[in-house]
Amino acid sequence: MSENFDYDFISIGAGSGGIASAARAASYGAKAAVIESGVIGGTCVNVGCVPKKIMWFASQVADAIKMAPDYGFDLSVNTHDWQQLKKIRENYIQNIHKFYTGYFERLKVSYIEGQASFIDRHTLDLGNGNTVTGRYINIAVGGKPDYPDIPGSEFMIDSDNFFALEEKPHKIAIVGAGYIAVELAGVLRGLGADVALFIRNERLLRAFDAPIVDELVNYMQKEGIQIEAQCIPTACEQNGEQYRLKFADEREFGDFDCVISAVGRSPNTENLATQKAGIIMDKSGFIPTDDYQNTNIDNIFAVGDVTGRAPLTPVAVAAGRKLSDRLFDGQTEAKISYEQIPTVIFSHPAIGTCGLSETEAQEKYGKEAIKVYQSRFTPMFSSVTQHKQPTLMRMICAGPEETIVGLHVLGLGADEMLQGFGVAIKMGATKKDFDATIAIHPTSAEEFVTMR
Ligand code: FAD
Ligand code: NDP
Repeated sequence: MSENFDYDFISIGAGSGGIASAARAASYGAKAAVIESGVIGGTCVNVGCVPKKIMWFASQVADAIKMAPDYGFDLSVNTHDWQQLKKIRENYIQNIHKFYTGYFERLKVSYIEGQASFIDRHTLDLGNGNTVTGRYINIAVGGKPDYPDIPGSEFMIDSDNFFALEEKPHKIAIVGAGYIAVELAGVLRGLGADVALFIRNERLLRAFDAPIVDELVNYMQKEGIQIEAQCIPTACEQNGEQYRLKFADEREFGDFDCVISAVGRSPNTENLATQKAGIIMDKSGFIPTDDYQNTNIDNIFAVGDVTGRAPLTPVAVAAGRKLSDRLFDGQTEAKISYEQIPTVIFSHPAIGTCGLSETEAQEKYGKEAIKVYQSRFTPMFSSVTQHKQPTLMRMICAGPEETIVGLHVLGLGADEMLQGFGVAIKMGATKKDFDATIAIHPTSAEEFVTMR
């Protein structure tokens, strides 16, 4: 296709969105390349979903050990070997790296090492004296962790550094109230650490369905996680080998072995020289795109976290694939929908959610048009044990047809439960459709088709 360019399609960034889009482009016969300045696989594989999920599994094992004596097992567990856990995690990630190398070879996608920045709308500087040109360029550079802008923030670590820890910290403070703060708090507490979570507002996970989050907060506190609300950080101070946190209302807490910042992420666009190609960014450095991942420059696109929309791996992957379907397979309408995206917070227990919270549904459809069904119970697995975990399931329905516009679950198995329900919601399922589905017994998921 490209007579005048080195490549038909170049993705800047070999993370979730960059790899998916270049691989799909190559599958249609396009000459495709990915440029990567760090490690193949990006955030998800190296310092995100994958290592996090292995840590979450470790913490699930710890939960199961707590319950084992009730099931008749004679267990005594004395230590947990953090190094062993890190080793299996890193081996798993190395296998993914190896897989990608073979995958690129098979698909004939070129892997180019370099720190890309724009020279013009078709030309990239690789930061090593070389340049490369592309007919289409896809910006998939992802993001990096933020820190609060306070004195002493250099004493804090972020989620990237968390995965590099050689030893388990014993007393940890986490600043933040989103996915990462909640997930790391659960993992660390599950593995036996003392954890304090400092949130700047009254609630954590503010965008999520409130009763589900309240149930999680109750359980986290029962499990011994200290949660301090209305904590706007003002300083992090070093005290020998430990750290203290100070807050705007003069409260201070310490001493901690480790303070983790989990206050959101910013796009990796500051060294991209986007102005040389005329690409518009917003004031936070995100690259706005339309429904088709188009930027304001007609041969340049952006997918994934850099767009500032739904920063989740499957979103970056799906958007990247659709982009290449459109550019190289004539699927002129190919695009993803950013609505009703199912997502799981790997808390303990996990939260699975799809669609609108009760509050969002009321705002969108009016209070009278909304009916909420819910079920709260102890799942069978822990109903026979001393140590109990809660389950709360909620279904938000709208209109006379009772279309399901939101579905939320906290509890054992929530992570694996949501995908199928996500399909049903996407298809416009109603409460009646759920009621007409025969339950699978005995499961927690069956509650969704038997709620009254
Ligand atoms: P990335 O995967 O970040 O890839 C961008 C790549 O671009 C990087 O490899 C970077 O080195 C490279 N790059 C940057 N600038 C340049 C440049 N100038 N030149 C060349 N290369 C460059 N999502 C989920 O769906 N489920 C989860 O369970 C989940 N857990 C997470 C846990 C953590 C701790 C974190 C931090 C994130 C998690 N996410 C999860 C989010 C998920 O990781 C991201 O949404 C996803 O990785 C975004 O993909 P991307 O392609 O946009 O960017
Ligand atoms: P989030 O956007 O989820 O949360 C950031 C949190 O930081 C917010 O709760 C916010 O509080 C708080 N915050 C922001 N600034 C400050 C500050 N100065 N001081 C104190 N608190 C502050 O970001 P994360 O970093 O947790 O995760 C980034 C994204 O990665 C997520 O949005 C998610 O899309 C993705 N991710 C997905 C996962 C999954 O799918 N399981 C797991 C991990 C990450 P407030 O709410 O009060 O404003």
